[in-house]
Amino acid sequence: MGKNVKVLAQLQEIDLKIDSARGEKQSFQEGISALETKVEEMRQDIACQTAELEAVEGEKRALEENIAAETDAIARSETRLRDIKTQKEYQAVSKEIAAAKKVKSEVEEQILQIITRSDALKAAISDRERELQELETASGGQKGELLARIEKLDAIIDENLASREATAQAISPSMIKKYTMLRERRQGVAIVEARNGSCLGCNMNLPPQVFNSLFKIDSLVACPHCQRLLFLRPEGEDTIR
Ligand SMILES: [Zn+2]
Repeated sequence: MGKNVKVLAQLQEIDLKIDSARGEKQSFQEGISALETKVEEMRQDIACQTAELEAVEGEKRALEENIAAETDAIARSETRLRDIKTQKEYQAVSKEIAAAKKVKSEVEEQILQIITRSDALKAAISDRERELQELETASGGQKGELLARIEKLDAIIDENLASREATAQAISPSMIKKYTMLRERRQGVAIVEARNGSCLGCNMNLPPQVFNSLFKIDSLVACPHCQRLLFLRPEGEDTIR
């Protein structure tokens, strides 16, 4: 294998490692975001229920004031009853008292309903808060694991970027440019192995003269189907050294 082809193949191996580490890193970062979103949604849920509880409590206070006012009115009317001289007036005030008592008992009924709602909300909020706490603990642990894995990936990426830089120095910038352009157009794979007369990038058969030209020293040969550069792997080797 010629030097240029060999360096490009090495570069490709390094770049594929970087690509895969970056892809993995991104999926871990998305995992962290998903965990954070879940916690945030639950917090908002609790905030919503808490606001509803406050509104219900406000309604309850207003009704309680209502009751206090009715109670006062009833007491005043009952005091007036004692000084009343005429039958007609007595009946009128008695009617007022009966009406006020009816209103009061209706409001008391409303308060009972509100207390039921408020109790249900309080129970739901405390359930939600417990769930939130559990979720925060669990997602905190998961997040820690993901961050540790991201840290390892960052180390792998840095290491490969350094060896990429060193490797790239061995060939001309114009060749790197060509390789980079091909990579962009061919899903990250610019140079591929040719084996048994086929291009392993697109799996198409190579014309015999193309395949044969790969045996010549340092010739850059492109697959006529996918335009990727081709190389022959020395027999019995897994990686390009
Ligand atoms: Zn091809």
